[in-house]
Amino acid sequence: MLKEVEGIIISDTNYGETSKIINVVTKEGIIGIIAKGAKGLKSPLRSYTQKFTYGKFYIYYKENKLSTLKSVDVINELSALKTDLILMSYLSYISDLTNQIMKQNISDELYKLYIDTLLKIDSGLNPMIMCNIFEIKALDFLGVGINLNSCSKCGISTNIITLDPDAGGYICKNCYTNERYYDDKTLKMLRMYYLVDISSISDLKISDKVVHNINNFLHTYYERYTGLYLKSKKFLETMIN
Ligand SMILES: [Zn+2]
Repeated sequence: MLKEVEGIIISDTNYGETSKIINVVTKEGIIGIIAKGAKGLKSPLRSYTQKFTYGKFYIYYKENKLSTLKSVDVINELSALKTDLILMSYLSYISDLTNQIMKQNISDELYKLYIDTLLKIDSGLNPMIMCNIFEIKALDFLGVGINLNSCSKCGISTNIITLDPDAGGYICKNCYTNERYYDDKTLKMLRMYYLVDISSISDLKISDKVVHNINNFLHTYYERYTGLYLKSKKFLETMIN
């Protein structure tokens, strides 16, 4: 059965002398596809089976087996993402994170977040902010979403004074002991990151301090709660620092 699926290639490996196997993230999950002859210099599939190709894939679909690639229509070259080493590191990490989540929890909503995030970074929006927005939304799919409505220790929603990644979110005045103090703008912006519709973002005016506060918070929260260890994240952090 010929089927059309939209997605992004998240890995490609050689198969035999001339073929490749690609894994494509789609809204229906990760689909393994064999691209016969794709390594051949004259193959029309050669340039369309590279990692991070974003397109429509026409495949002979086989459930729970490798499908076979017929052709590809590229939707967006993602050329900014692919020509800058730092942006490429974001692309790798965000793709890796999506892949890890999709292995456990197939979600068309997550797929949409993934694509929207990549397109926004490709169009020139701040990659750290966009990556953090993706990360905070992705936590729900990992089953460890942050409580952004009330104190993470006692549950009341008034007198919130700071955040603590180890406690899992906001801290109120009564529960405060010696946690690091985050300013009000950071507390509010974290919630905005969670609520914003990524596809509607057109520009970002957030101070560097708030951006870095949120990035640090999410870094610690991910280490503490997700159990994920991604080499692509370590690499990204090395590139940024
Ligand atoms: Zn409290």
